[in-house]
Amino acid sequence: MCANIIWGLGHLGSWAFIATRQTTVLLSQMALTVAIRSHPLMFLFGLAAVSLLVLMFVPPIPQSQIYHGFADQRTLFGIPNFWNVASNLPFVFIGAAGLWQIRVHFSARIFFLGVFLTGFSSSYYHWNPDDTGLFWDRLPMSIAFMAILANVIEERIDDRAGRMLLWPLVLLGIASLLWWRQTDDLRLYSWVQFFPCVVLPLIFWLLPPKHGSDGYWIAAAGWYLLAKALEFTDAVIFSAGHVMAGHALKHLAAAAACYAILRAFQTRRPLA
Ligand SMILES: [Zn+2]
Repeated sequence: MCANIIWGLGHLGSWAFIATRQTTVLLSQMALTVAIRSHPLMFLFGLAAVSLLVLMFVPPIPQSQIYHGFADQRTLFGIPNFWNVASNLPFVFIGAAGLWQIRVHFSARIFFLGVFLTGFSSSYYHWNPDDTGLFWDRLPMSIAFMAILANVIEERIDDRAGRMLLWPLVLLGIASLLWWRQTDDLRLYSWVQFFPCVVLPLIFWLLPPKHGSDGYWIAAAGWYLLAKALEFTDAVIFSAGHVMAGHALKHLAAAAACYAILRAFQTRRPLA
């Protein structure tokens, strides 16, 4: 009897401990959410400052010239590196559709302008891959990255903060590429790519949507991750049958991510 009571109390104690721990986690999550909501700029600037500070301790990242040696260099219809050039076409259509249809936010229009221009600049780069072409390839992409970050801040955190941050972020994206061309150091450009990848999931996780569900955004993140995986498996995929290489498929997966974002805007409705 006594042993049973002790066992019961012990069991109750462990449940109480788990419940307390869960409550603590929940409370800290709520506190973080409230902190981000009430001080969005402070949160973002703080995270940006810390990550940029860390970047200063990372050695410079030069542009590897091996990067330009893509697996599939076949010429078709007189176009060199045909599949890496042609696979950019979806960006033009998705960007044009976004520019035509999405008028709700200026940051969204800048994003779709970046996507539209990527179709041309990436084709230009892949026609004859070198550093100069890569600069033009990356320029509209970094603008699109920064614009979508500003847009999500606008939509999820603070309308005014997002609009205020649009041009500084876009200028930072451009500056990161000018810095690379001047110094052959890709650290700042890596940050421009890396920072939204950290901040966006955090914002989506902590802050509820105001206009429609997150389904298309989650799909966009999935396609983007797939694009990254394909980028690193360019030659491996090409060696399996010599049909298509990873890089051309990466363009298609990245375009699918942009299409998911287009769908997110097309289906955007204020939530009751
Ligand atoms: Zn490419």
